[in-house]
Amino acid sequence: MGQTITEKILDEHLVEGELTPGEEIGIEIDQVLTQDTTGTMVWLQFEALDLDEVQTELAAQYCDHQTYQFDFKNTDDHRFLRSAAGTYGAYFSRPGNGICHQVHKENFAAPGKTLLGSDSHTPTPGGLGQLAIGAGGLDIAVAMGGGPYYVEMPEVVNVHLEGELPEWATAKDIALHLLGELTVKGGVGKIFEYTGPGAEKLSIPERTTITNLGTELGATSSIFATDEKTKDWLARQDREEEYVDLQPDDDAEYAETVEVDLTELEPLVAAPSMPDNVAPVSEYEGTDVEQVIVGSCTNGAYEDILPSAKMLEDREVAKQTEMIVAPGSKQASEMLAREGWTAEMMAAGVNFSEATCGACIGIGHVPASDSVSLRTFNRNFEGRSGIEDDSVFLCSPEVATAAAITGEIVDPRDLADELGDLEAPGLEMGTKYGPGMGEDDSDIISPDEAIDDGLVKGPNIGDVPLKDDIDVDGGEALLKMEDNITTDHIIPATADILKFRSNIEKLSEFTLSRVDDTFAERALNADGGVLVAGENYGQGSSREHAALCPMYLGIEAVFAQSFARIHKANLFNFGIVPLAIDEETYERIDQGDDLAIVDDVPAGVRSGQEEFTVSVNGEWEFTADLDASERERDILAAGGKLSWVKQQHADG
Ligand code: SF4
Repeated sequence: MGQTITEKILDEHLVEGELTPGEEIGIEIDQVLTQDTTGTMVWLQFEALDLDEVQTELAAQYCDHQTYQFDFKNTDDHRFLRSAAGTYGAYFSRPGNGICHQVHKENFAAPGKTLLGSDSHTPTPGGLGQLAIGAGGLDIAVAMGGGPYYVEMPEVVNVHLEGELPEWATAKDIALHLLGELTVKGGVGKIFEYTGPGAEKLSIPERTTITNLGTELGATSSIFATDEKTKDWLARQDREEEYVDLQPDDDAEYAETVEVDLTELEPLVAAPSMPDNVAPVSEYEGTDVEQVIVGSCTNGAYEDILPSAKMLEDREVAKQTEMIVAPGSKQASEMLAREGWTAEMMAAGVNFSEATCGACIGIGHVPASDSVSLRTFNRNFEGRSGIEDDSVFLCSPEVATAAAITGEIVDPRDLADELGDLEAPGLEMGTKYGPGMGEDDSDIISPDEAIDDGLVKGPNIGDVPLKDDIDVDGGEALLKMEDNITTDHIIPATADILKFRSNIEKLSEFTLSRVDDTFAERALNADGGVLVAGENYGQGSSREHAALCPMYLGIEAVFAQSFARIHKANLFNFGIVPLAIDEETYERIDQGDDLAIVDDVPAGVRSGQEEFTVSVNGEWEFTADLDASERERDILAAGGKLSWVKQQHADG
């Protein structure tokens, strides 16, 4: 039987298991990436594993999420990351050089290779034919040590794109259309493979916008076949020799096929406050907009910002609206500057940010209270922008720029009709400057250029907390939460909190503070307990602090209707038992109930027990399911992955 692109790459990297959907497989990882908010813990864990050197073909450490060095803690973290990269043999991308997914795509992403990254949008270079997966930091540390990455073999879904995008509809609208149709849970346990004549017409930046937003579908990854466009794009980055031809076999079998007729798409928005709350722009026309931001890892490439620049030629940003451009990489900034677009956009009223995640996680450019912000980002979870009752719409650069020109949400087709001389910017990729994409990589320090002598730790950098066995018997339901609790709810990524990312004792004080600001104190006083949640618990980022901090506070188990993939893996990694419950049980449990697990959990985890009986206040009982592979059970039994790997090393 023929193979999909995904199966071909996995087959080449398979070290354990079989490519049967739902079965756990172990794969060899070629490249890893990590960023500054997850990276400090990754390197502290790598150090705790007593390993000397990175074992993967390539490892890259980026400083992108929190580049503003408000106080010494961030600067210390960045210095520690530089020293760790140099000590262990990774590339180091300096703060301000850009967002990991953009910079990695430009410099290192390669078709046919596997990439594991401690960031949920790691699948971005799938648009180049790389099989890229987001994971928790500890999985990255283990992969860097040469260990396989274990994941349930996903179903491979074919997204077949027919036709061509009409004017003013963009790749972002393809992704938003899929989110509207499939929802934020529609991709769980799946890899989306994009094929068809519509896919072939898309440029690489358009493809990577789609693969980036595959994360919002909950997908394990997303990937495109490679072609002349891939080759050309690599050549523009001076990496043509890394091109590999990757196509699905004619008789490849997909678990499912999703058809999208591109000719029927129109400009869309994801309205507040979920990426799948999708509607045509026209539904919100006339809504006042106080802020517009173009950029991020989704739409921050040079080719993404160019349409905005063209739309603003001989025009101005409306006086009641602020427009910010946050390029995804310094390469994008450099290209815009060299070609004169930066000056023209500034003259039109645009404010430029350095190349950073920043505003995407509420660090800078926080919207005014009770105002609408239009962003070309990938997430609009409530409060993520830095203000709790925000009103963030996601859209394409074209829709964002149309709003910047008028000061209100407007369908760019209507604006073009009204203005008469506003042309759809289209996909033109040519540059005035030449065929290449920027001059140098002075902001990347290669392992050969390492400048530190060993690890440099400032006073804010603590130790990794360790458990060394499983000790679970239930406890008080310290918090009962709704559906779709994100890792932003569990550990907010705002500047005042994020600066403690290397200091778990301090960071844990903020655990779930967005849901209940007394939680951390109650958990510490209760000396342990459990959490209860609805569907899709832990969606969003790969942030392992969202498991590490609850572990530090003594949380033993999470009872939820369902779990997001990366977060569930992180719970295993930190020795917290993820137990699935049905809706009726969820409804019956109240916060404050005593949930005593009747069975012997450590013994059950070790023996493969799948159902555990739980007594509620000694009055009624329910059954909770543990869906875990043998390896995940071993990890839980050891108290978490770090202890498990150390035990394995000790056993030789
Ligand atoms: Fe950065 Fe936002 Fe992209 Fe995450 S989603 S990598 S925070 S720009």
